[in-house]
This record gives sequence, C-alpha cells and structure tokens, in this order.
Amino acid sequence: MKTVTDFFGCDVFSASVMKERLPAEAYEEFQRTLDTGHRLNIEVADIIANAMKDWAIEKGATHFTHWFQPLTGVTAEKHDSFITSKKDGRVIMEFSGKELIQGEPDASSFPSGGLRATFEARGYTAWDPTSFAFIKNGVLCIPTAFCSYGGEALDKKTPLLRSMEAINKQTLRILKLFGNEDVVAVKTTVGPEQEYFLVDAEVFNKRKDLVYTGRTLFGAMPPKGQELDDHYFGAIKPRVQAFMKDLDDELWRLGVLAKTEHNEAAPAQHELAPIFTTTNIATDHNQITMETMQKCAKQHGMICLLHEKPFAGVNGSGKHNNWSISTNNGTNLLEPGETPAENAQFLLFLCAVIKAVDDYQDLLRISIASAGNDHRLGAQEAPPAIVSMFLGEELTEILESIERDEDYDNREKEMLKVGVHVLPRFPKDTTDRNRTSPLAFTGNKFEFRMLGSSASVAGPNTTLNTAVAEVLKGFADTLEGSADFENDLHKLIKGVIKNHKRIIFNGNGYDDAWVKEAEGRGLLNLKTTPDALPYMLHDKNVKLYTDHKVYSETEIKAHYEIKNEKYCKYLNIEVLTMIDMAKKDILPCVSRNIHELADTLIAKRTIGDFVDTTYEETLVTKLSGLSSVAFNKVAELEELSAEVKTIEESDAKAMFYKNRIIPVMSELRVAVDEMETLCSSEHWCYPSYGDLLFSVK
Ligand code: ADP
Ligand code: MG
Repeated sequence: MKTVTDFFGCDVFSASVMKERLPAEAYEEFQRTLDTGHRLNIEVADIIANAMKDWAIEKGATHFTHWFQPLTGVTAEKHDSFITSKKDGRVIMEFSGKELIQGEPDASSFPSGGLRATFEARGYTAWDPTSFAFIKNGVLCIPTAFCSYGGEALDKKTPLLRSMEAINKQTLRILKLFGNEDVVAVKTTVGPEQEYFLVDAEVFNKRKDLVYTGRTLFGAMPPKGQELDDHYFGAIKPRVQAFMKDLDDELWRLGVLAKTEHNEAAPAQHELAPIFTTTNIATDHNQITMETMQKCAKQHGMICLLHEKPFAGVNGSGKHNNWSISTNNGTNLLEPGETPAENAQFLLFLCAVIKAVDDYQDLLRISIASAGNDHRLGAQEAPPAIVSMFLGEELTEILESIERDEDYDNREKEMLKVGVHVLPRFPKDTTDRNRTSPLAFTGNKFEFRMLGSSASVAGPNTTLNTAVAEVLKGFADTLEGSADFENDLHKLIKGVIKNHKRIIFNGNGYDDAWVKEAEGRGLLNLKTTPDALPYMLHDKNVKLYTDHKVYSETEIKAHYEIKNEKYCKYLNIEVLTMIDMAKKDILPCVSRNIHELADTLIAKRTIGDFVDTTYEETLVTKLSGLSSVAFNKVAELEELSAEVKTIEESDAKAMFYKNRIIPVMSELRVAVDEMETLCSSEHWCYPSYGDLLFSVK
C-alpha cells in the first residue's frame, strides 16, 4: 500500500519535480526569477511549459487552465486542451511558454466594478510562479493573477502579492536596524483553520433556502442543539470519518498540508486545520480545500455547508486566520526571542501589529465583511464586530510596565526596559483562552478570528500585510536616522503602547459593558457590511493602499462597488427565496393544517357541546393569526423588492436592504418559525433544524 509520504504532492509540479525534469540552467533561471521577482524570459518559459505538459500528460491530463480568483470569491477556470492540429489531419499535444505565462479569458462576466467597460471583454491572466501548478480532475491548473486590459487587478491574488512585497520591503528595513544582515526576504505565513457543516444530501435537497442561499432562512430551534457540548472533539461518525479520509488523501495529493480534523462545537460541524505556509500559497490551498470539501462530501452523499451562519441560534462557521511574519531563514518574527536584542525586536513587531490594528480597524472589519458574516459576528462564540486584540494577561502586564517605567527606582519595572532583559516565554495556554476575541496573540502568531468560513483569506491578509507594512515604514523612518538606537527604540515602543493600548481587550467580547467601554475608548463598532464599507473610501485608507501600491485609487473604487453589489445580490436571492418558500410551501401547508384542525373541530362539535375543543380552537386561532402576519410580511417584502430595484447607486441599495428589507425578513421569519412549532410534523413542508443537524448518522 502506498503511504502518505509516497503520494504527498504527487499531483503538484513542485520545485523537486522541476529540478528533476528541467535542464539545470532553466531551473536556476526559474529560481532566480522567484528570488528577485524579475520576469522569466520566454525561452525558459517555453522549456518549463514543455516539461509541465509532458509531466501532466503522463498523469493523464489532456487540458490545462489558468486557475484564478476573480472577485466572486470562488475560483475560476476555463479549460483548453493541449491538442494542436497538423496539416495531415493528425493532432499533437503542445503547450508553449506564452500559453503558460499569459491567458486571455473572456472576462466580461466577472465582477469588475466598472473597471472594464463591457465592450472590452478581455482580461488577462498571468502566471504566478510562486504557487505551483497542479492537476485537478485531469486538468493542469496554473495559478494565475487576473487583470483588466488596463492592468488593474480584477482578482484577489494580485493585491495580496503586492501586499506581500510591501511588508517584505518594510520588514527588511527594520531587520537591518537590528543587524540581521543575512535576511534577504520576509514573507507572511498563514494557517487558516476551516470550519464547515456536513448535512445529508437528501435532507439538504428538500430545503430551497439551503439550495439557493447556503443558509436556512427559516427554522425553529430543535429540542437539542449544542448545549450539551457533546459534539466538540467528540467521536467522529463513521460516515464523516470516511469523508475526512478521502478529503485528506485528495488534499495531500495536491500538496495541501491538511493536518488536524475534528468535530466542532455545533452538531454536524467540523474543522480542518492545515500546517501553515506562505500566505499566497495558503490562500490558494484554502480555495482548493473548500472546493475539495464540497466535492468529497457529495461523493459521500452529503453536502458541505461553507456558509458562515447556516443555522440561526447555532454556532456559525469561521475561518481562523493564523498569521505571522517569517524570514527566509525560517525565523518567526512574532516569536519572543532568547536574548534582549531579539526581544526588543519582537516587541517592536508586536507593537507594529498593535498600532496597525488600531489604525486600520475599519479596513480589517471591511476585509471580512459580507452579508453572511453579518449574521455570524457577535453571536454564539463568534467575535463581535468591534475590532480589538487579545494579548493575554502576561503580555499585557509587560506592555503596561514598559509604559510606566519612568520610575527607575522600582527594580521590577526597570527590568522591563526594552532591550535590557529577556522576556519570559508565553506559554500557549495562557495566551489563548478567549475564544471570542477578534484578534488573539497565541504565543507566536496572531489569530484573526473574524473571517467567515466561505470567504477567501486573500482580502484579510492583504489588509493585515499592508497595515503592518505602513506602521513598519513609520518605525523605520524614525529609527534609521537615530543616534541613540536603544533609547529611541524604547521611546517608540512606549509611545505605541500609550497611544494604542485602547485596542487591547482581554475580557468578554459579548458583554454589553464592552460595547459601552469600546465606545468610550473610541473604537469603531461597524455592525453590518453597509455600515462598514463606506470607510473603504476614507482618505487615510486610500492613502494606505496607494502609498504601498497595493490598490490604485481606481481599483479601490471598483472593489467598493463590487462589495456593495455582492451584498445586494445575496440579499436579493435571499428575499426572493423567502417569498417563494412562504407563498408556495409554508402558507399552503399551514392552511392544510388549519383545515384539518377545523374539520376535527366541526366533527367534535357535532358530537355535542360536552366535547372539549380547546386544542383545535386554540391552534386554529393561533395558526390563522400567524399566517395572516406572514402573508402580510410577504406582501411587504414584494413591495420593497420592487422599490429597491429603482435605486441606482449600489451603496444606497445596500443600505436599503439593511435598513428596510432585513427587518421585514426577520419579522417574517419569526412568524414562520412560530408556525413551525405549532404545525404537525406531517404538515410541515421542510426538514427541521433537528432533521438537518442530526441528518448524518
Ligand atoms: P490551535 O489549534 O490551538 O488554534 P495550533 O498551534 O494547532 O493552534 O495552530 C493552529 C493553526 O495555526 C495551524 O493551522 C497552524 O499551522 C497555524 N500556525 C502555527 N504557527 C503559525 C505561524 N507561525 N504562522 C501562521 N500560522 C501558524
Ligand atoms: Mg485556533
């Protein structure tokens, strides 16, 4: 039997495969391109393309695709076969360097936020040699960036790669100041823990809301939910176990470092965590992981729900984005060091993240904003919409002591002068007890927990990288000319702690008291996507992205437009699905139930007045009342849906959905959910929460 080490990465055209198959000079030229970021010359590209094609054909591939990540949030591919016809009618299999490097998919149907006029349908895909090509379902997939005709980014990869360059540049400046001359490149690393639900496919298919929107728009709570905490880390059911095994095998073949799989807190909820890797690759791998999860689940007669809040009242699914910065020598810059100098450096990077998160709370909130995530944030173990950081008591105390160290008489405080003493190591379990913190320091990395499960990790990491790069730039500007480095460093760190400690919060993020306190501290509380998005266009934010060349101003405007449009589109589908379900299924079912009860009531009455009809009377009255409410709410939603169509600007539209439509959707849901608790099971038209959450036996 083949072991994992035999087949790990066997479907990836990796560095080792390239080394084996390319002439030495071509391989070296390729490596140089990776190291320096220079363009690959076309002769070498031809050689690589040819080797890639031969390898892919040996593995049974007949087609190739430029695999990219448009702003829809999912991946896109258009398959082309390798065949080229010859004059004599035969075909040969060909793949040129040009085809490898650049593609021109018809891009007119991808969101562009006005960047690409519809008459200019062309878009370009450009090979990203930093992420390896792989074979998926018999197709050679080449990771690419996707741009408009004018070179503007129409995808998630391009800004991410630019942000990695920005943080690389600024971090190297800082590292030089600490004498790290041997470091030539710095990359951020990410390990995204992916949560998901598994439900039985047959049960799923009976719910229009799940089929059309990925979440339940109606549904009363079942008698048993997650209150017993008996699912978290519980024994994995055989059917789920079989799915996880296949999933791991597929992911390992694709070189994805799937590491940990376990049951999550809610029934039917699970998690997969990979071993962390370079952010760009982690992003590609997370997309592959989500896609493979959905495919494997189907093969096992299940559906994998990636929505961030498939069930109201039950934990939502997030994606914990573990983030750190690493040098080409493998040093983690967020790891407290062994020596005072290393610790001073650690503290500086820590402070950079603190300042970045405080200065760009709004952009971090926006980076995880979506219609689906709005339902998740602030409920059932998900972090609230207020961005704050958890550092743990020990680290917070250290920072506070540094801030207060004017009094050098106190020995203990003096100990904490930056660069003088070695900091204690922070045991992991003391730094990670708070499950609801938006951004928690967990010993040697930050865990950004606001991400919803379905979204790409590209956006949040682009924001984190750029914000930290900006702060590091400021630090480097201050320290590079310093005559007294140690003193200035100490002053800088103290200043950051003083000015930005408001972002540090180690308490319970659900407490109403925190909402008030956060307001008092001047922190933002952007509850919904339409509340958050306008901050994208604020001068300081536009300046951040343009200064670091991560987004141009045009791109920011386009992305703003796309985010608003996306929000509206999702809500439009949800509203239409709700109306459809209520009108076509729910109200008729309730009517039939009322009819049956009324028949019984009449039958009982014909027997005589002495027969008690309390049950039928009460239920008929309640159900009739509720169905009238529901019916009126449906009518209201129909009117509002017509009205929202008349609004032109996408941000005004989004606001209308939020302020006018969502409240009515909630009211309709309340009425319907109550009817569900009153109707007989026989008459209820959809599988219940209980049926769904416990559908996989
Ligand atoms: P826990 O499961 O308690 O949250 P783990 O140590 O298992 O913590 O890590 C969770 C995730 O964090 C994993 O995906 C892991 O690979 C990732 N991770 C660990 N170190 C780093 C790092 N330096 N940079 C980015 N991610 C990391
Ligand atoms: Mg975690």
